[in-house]
Amino acid sequence: MRLVTYLHHGMTGVGVLDAQHARIRPLDLVDARPIPDMLTLIREGLDAITPSVMRPAVPLVDVDLRAPIPRPARNIFCVGKNYRRHAEEFARSGFDTSAADAVPENPVVFTKVPESVIGDHETILYPEGISNAVDYEAELAVVIGRGGRGIRREEAMSHVFGYTIVNDVSARDWQQRHGQWFLGKSFDTFCPMGPMLVTTDELDPSALDIRCWVNDELRQHANTRDLIFDIPTLIATISAGITLQPGDIIATGTPEGVGAGFDPPRFLQRGNEVTIEIQGIGRLVNGVS
Ligand code: MG
Repeated sequence: MRLVTYLHHGMTGVGVLDAQHARIRPLDLVDARPIPDMLTLIREGLDAITPSVMRPAVPLVDVDLRAPIPRPARNIFCVGKNYRRHAEEFARSGFDTSAADAVPENPVVFTKVPESVIGDHETILYPEGISNAVDYEAELAVVIGRGGRGIRREEAMSHVFGYTIVNDVSARDWQQRHGQWFLGKSFDTFCPMGPMLVTTDELDPSALDIRCWVNDELRQHANTRDLIFDIPTLIATISAGITLQPGDIIATGTPEGVGAGFDPPRFLQRGNEVTIEIQGIGRLVNGVS
């Protein structure tokens, strides 16, 4: 299923996109209760939902898509330096003051605050006077379905609900100056997400093309098969001591081609548009203003 959270005539709904990507069928719970949001749907599970009999399908062109999970219940887990060539470009850039080794031996995990999330075609606000090193990072994001602690690698994929796209927007000067990754990655609007949430029955995440353009220029082009730490490893690592919850999001890291990797760096400017495409999920487009 291709699930969306959408705004239609001022009302937020949760629905499923049809095969033609033309219409959204609103969803209800099987006991006829409406679904207030995607987090409720994930907690209840796919077996608990059904197309609404009361509300008709709406054309996709008539709605504004929001992020699939517009306000996650807690911070978004993120993985740093999870593609070898990106780890090397980041080490060369001088902006990574956090570690001695370019390519990590274990997953590097940080978080972004839930309030940083915006949806497809919402605007990344340029933090004028606060940062002048705003960067893009195209990433495959995993959404947890069944929670758990101490999840073993072998069973990890059964805890996944689906996949979406995240742009892990980053203020590199804040990463560098403060020697951590949280502050400069949690600015307001720094977590574009979407356009949809694709459930595991429709998508094998092990070899997906991932691309990122700034305006019309292709900056990142890689494949998820090149992840250093795969999805089962990330779930096992994070859940070892932290109980994962339904609806938790794990952004799996970005490949090479970020602005900081160029010499001189090519950071985002007001008026830019960032487009991220992941095979089987779609395109996430956000302007910078
Ligand atoms: Mg990232």
